[in-house]
Amino acid sequence: MGLTAALNKHLRAGELFAALESVTRPSAKWTGATFDVFNPSTGELLATLPDMGTDEAHAAIDAAAAAQSLWAAKPAKDRSAILRRWHDLIVEHVDDLAAILTAEMGKPLAEAKGEVLHAASYVEWYAEEAKRVYGETFPAPANDRRMLVIKQPVGVVGTITPWNFPASMVARKISPALAAGCAVVLKPAEQTPLVAGAMFVLAEKAGFPKGVVNLIYAAEGAPIGRELCSNPKVRKISFTGSTEVGRLLMRQCSDQIKKVSLELGGNAPFIVFDDADIDEAVEGAVQAKFRNAGQTCVSANRIYVQSAVHDAFAEKFVTRVRELTVGDGFSAGVAIGPMIDSHAIEKIEAHVADALAKGGEVRCGGRRIGTNGTFFEPTVLTGISHVMRVAQEETFGPIAPIIRFETTEQVVAEANDTIYGLAAYFYAENLKRVWHVAEALEYGMVGINTGRMSSEAAPFGGIKQSGIGREGSRHGLEDYLEMKYLCMGNI
Ligand code: ADP
Repeated sequence: MGLTAALNKHLRAGELFAALESVTRPSAKWTGATFDVFNPSTGELLATLPDMGTDEAHAAIDAAAAAQSLWAAKPAKDRSAILRRWHDLIVEHVDDLAAILTAEMGKPLAEAKGEVLHAASYVEWYAEEAKRVYGETFPAPANDRRMLVIKQPVGVVGTITPWNFPASMVARKISPALAAGCAVVLKPAEQTPLVAGAMFVLAEKAGFPKGVVNLIYAAEGAPIGRELCSNPKVRKISFTGSTEVGRLLMRQCSDQIKKVSLELGGNAPFIVFDDADIDEAVEGAVQAKFRNAGQTCVSANRIYVQSAVHDAFAEKFVTRVRELTVGDGFSAGVAIGPMIDSHAIEKIEAHVADALAKGGEVRCGGRRIGTNGTFFEPTVLTGISHVMRVAQEETFGPIAPIIRFETTEQVVAEANDTIYGLAAYFYAENLKRVWHVAEALEYGMVGINTGRMSSEAAPFGGIKQSGIGREGSRHGLEDYLEMKYLCMGNI
């Protein structure tokens, strides 16, 4: 068990590496089972970690429950100060955290650095918001009473995070929970547990009291998920991942009517109308489609382009996509890293094959690079129709399918014809059209003339089967607070 030289070689100083070693030691209940973490670009072994199970999840929940009331009772200013120190430490260690992230997840180092700073911005935001948990008073219908609401933390929160944003997902979940006064238990994705571990090292250094933040390394999510959902000491589950697992967790939480925040799959439409600025739309589409190699829940999954501008857009877009360099995230100038694993590549290949069999055309890319690798060429497909798999399912890869459309009514109907409702994007200049389409799209977030909208200052989240709850802004804090109505009589 331990971390390897392959990981350490990327780090600037040995300090974080040594500290990370110290949090990989499990408790006395550990069975001795381990799991390995690999670099998806090279296949190199990065770490062998303890595979913790139900017993350890139980122990972590007990620790959180024991710390809960003291943490909740701490003045907001003190909780805020610890969060602020955690933020400062994350920023101070940005290079090491980004290197760990690129090593275990594959994304280009510059993107990894951006993600770590984005993570820090959530911690900073909630350090500030912690001090602004306001109650409310209500004018009573009679003079002999007073009516008011106070806000209190929901209690211990169990969180489960995915591999595609292994640093920012940790911050987006646990910093509002901690700000609200909740103790947390986190299980990071098995593919990318190391950056979460390093962030926990820094959290300890920031001074969170013992038991307030608890980390579980596990090779499999299911046993940990079952324990978090069934243990009555856990009052809320916050999960980001697939709709399938989100549905399962919600079902498991129903016995205890446990609160859930779910950030699940998407099938984002990206619509280019005939009055759009085509050059800007091309840039926006490159960002919305190829950031993180298309492995984000808000990735543009289907690109709809109105007939009059279809050919011009497709031509410029293909030219731009051909410029994207694929490779190891540590190499300079790389824009697209590897897919997380071979299953991801197989899904992408199946989606491309389905599109070609039904009349689609490859305009660039279309193939895996090498026979066994996890790299895939950035790909543009045209001649796509709404019924093909690329348009119906979340591809989670660097494939951009372009669908031609004629009218606003048609494109809005097709864009909304999905079980998902996370993010949508459109480019248009006509103000009347902008308002009409923004209001008609059934999505939790709509990017208008931009391909990028995630920010700690705004509520991120979906409707329909894309989820429940919001992350970011003051709304993200509300998700970890209970409202208590106090009625004072006989005044
Ligand atoms: P992805 O397909 O992106 O890996 P998943 O929903 O499978 O998405 O995984 C997201 C997170 O959920 C990971 O941390 C994973 O370990 C965890 N997970 C997977 N299956 C379950 C489950 N049955 N119960 C709880 N957590 C799970």
